[in-house]
Amino acid sequence: MRTLITGGAGFIGSHLCERFLAEGHEVIAVDNMITGDLANLDPFRANPRFRFIGHDISAPLKVKQKLDNVLHFASPASPVDYLEHPIPTLKVGSLGTHNTLGLAKTHGARYLLASTSEVYGDPLEHPQKESYWGNVNPIGVRGCYDEAKRFAESITMAYHRAHGVNTHIIRIFNTYGERMRLNDGRVLPNFMYQALRGEPITVYGEGNQTRSFQYVSDLVEGIWRLLFTDFHEPVNLGNPAEITILEFAEEIRKLAGSKSEIVFKPLPQDDPKVRQPDITRARQLLGWEPKVGRDEGLKRTMDFFRNKMGK
Ligand code: NAD
Ligand code: UDP
Repeated sequence: MRTLITGGAGFIGSHLCERFLAEGHEVIAVDNMITGDLANLDPFRANPRFRFIGHDISAPLKVKQKLDNVLHFASPASPVDYLEHPIPTLKVGSLGTHNTLGLAKTHGARYLLASTSEVYGDPLEHPQKESYWGNVNPIGVRGCYDEAKRFAESITMAYHRAHGVNTHIIRIFNTYGERMRLNDGRVLPNFMYQALRGEPITVYGEGNQTRSFQYVSDLVEGIWRLLFTDFHEPVNLGNPAEITILEFAEEIRKLAGSKSEIVFKPLPQDDPKVRQPDITRARQLLGWEPKVGRDEGLKRTMDFFRNKMGK
């Protein structure tokens, strides 16, 4: 099988390339490097079944070789990144999704869209089930990401209904692990960087907002299982273990053996107050649930950052 992965040089995309190569697929990674890192490809760059195409997927792409699977993971994903690049974010979620759906249609390939828990916005239902329609501010600063992903889900369902494309949609909840960019601005790289350098750990707001952190290998396993089903509605993939951001700061500080103080900074606009996946659907449909707890996942990720920072 041949699998095309957009965003392949990013954090999650590179783990997907690695998994699909390990399963014996040929893998074509497409990336324009807006938030990616070519070093993420180092572990498998020399694999003869791997190919990299430098391309902005918001512009159409033709691929001559037959594709069996198209996985659309290209998009800035950290709030800091998409606030810096709102228009490319809107374009890759809309035009990029259109272009990749077109590729899947042309090749008769399976399709999988990386959507997000952000489609639930600042949720009024907790935990979030796939049936919840969300509470998104379309004109707020996060709207460029949330609405692009909501449009992406909508056009994906339309391609399934109108053209019979075998589409899949995952709603990914906060995912972490090796190969996250140290300076991508997301909470985990920020806290680990700060704790390892003994700098103040910046908690936004009072730190009582919650998130639920999933280790990347669990996500990749869920994606692998869903792709080969005939299920087309969205599926939440996340780890339901919920924690406040203040507790998360304390956990990371302890793990780093750090004496960093915790300081409080203003809460960004429209920052969701709570987030926790209901994973009943993934459990029933895929027999899937997260296997790597925060204790183990954070240790592995911190080793990665220690190494990167020479600490
Ligand atoms: P990332 O920034 O590490 O990776 C995104 C990759 O997409 C980068 O390599 C970037 O250069 C590439 N890209 C962006 N726009 C592109 C374009 N127009 N053309 C080609 N390549 C482009 O982020 P990530 O955390 O690996 O996220 C990957 C996907 O998963 C994104 O679609 C994101 O929305 C989704 N997601 C991630 C999380 C998470 O917690 N990590 C949560 C929800 C959804
Ligand atoms: N956050 C924080 N300090 C930081 C970075 C983020 O307190 O240095 C908070 C942020 O306000 C949010 C949570 O951590 O409530 C998760 O932020 P992240 O940017 O990782 O992603 P989000 O889940 O908001 O998309």
